[in-house]
Amino acid sequence: ATSRTAIIAGNWKMNLGPQQASSFAREILPALGDIIRHNSSLMSILCPPSISLASVHKVMEAMPTPGVELGAQNMYYEDKGAFTGEIAPGMLKELCTTVILGHSERRTYFGENDELVNKKTLAAFAYGLRPIVCVGENTDQYESGETQSVIKTQIQQSLAGLSGEQASQIVIAYEPIWAIGTGKAATAKGAGEVIHFIRHTYASIYGESAAQAIRILYGGSVTSANISEFMAHPDIDGGLIGGASIKHDFVEIVRTTA
Ligand code: PEP
Repeated sequence: ATSRTAIIAGNWKMNLGPQQASSFAREILPALGDIIRHNSSLMSILCPPSISLASVHKVMEAMPTPGVELGAQNMYYEDKGAFTGEIAPGMLKELCTTVILGHSERRTYFGENDELVNKKTLAAFAYGLRPIVCVGENTDQYESGETQSVIKTQIQQSLAGLSGEQASQIVIAYEPIWAIGTGKAATAKGAGEVIHFIRHTYASIYGESAAQAIRILYGGSVTSANISEFMAHPDIDGGLIGGASIKHDFVEIVRTTA
């Protein structure tokens, strides 16, 4: 619907170790390549667990697939050093183009807040990684009508301090927490309204041209059966896919979007 290149990203979460991940990548890459080769306004990003990035990267080198990129699910913001168990932006940059930041599972189970997500976002840009920053309200906030105020705070705080260039390159994923992994997707109309609100809020911070340039994805129980409804909304620029991203349905989602 717009000149923005759509993104279908797959968040594999804590599934598929190095061997299984490379088998799955080998299985889906040819089909993804065929679909995307004929559609320059669509790209796909595979986001395996960190430990599987290298094996998937190797498959992608052996099977070059323009339009399909590799992303991580998280990282730390420091350059290097005594941060046991963490992964630095420069390390990801060796393998990835993209990093998902502030996923609701990181926020809920690992205590990530907007301040931390903001530091990670700025660090990702400093290393030339494309951040996909996730925002979204939980069930209580949804039911009590706080969606817009929650989202507004997340946008203002997680995305503070971007340069003009960075401001037009960020990717935002709107993922209502009540729709993640529940099989209970938002309606395209509901998601579209929130995403329109996100774009409007973003415009008030970084200006209308940055807001028109950025991709805003919907995530939450997306499958090949509902992706086209979301894509039909002019404000929705793609999907962040969880559960369906490690199934063959991911290829069907990309095919339906193309
Ligand atoms: C996600 O984890 O980003 C997600 C949207 O999950 P699911 O598609 O399984 O709801």
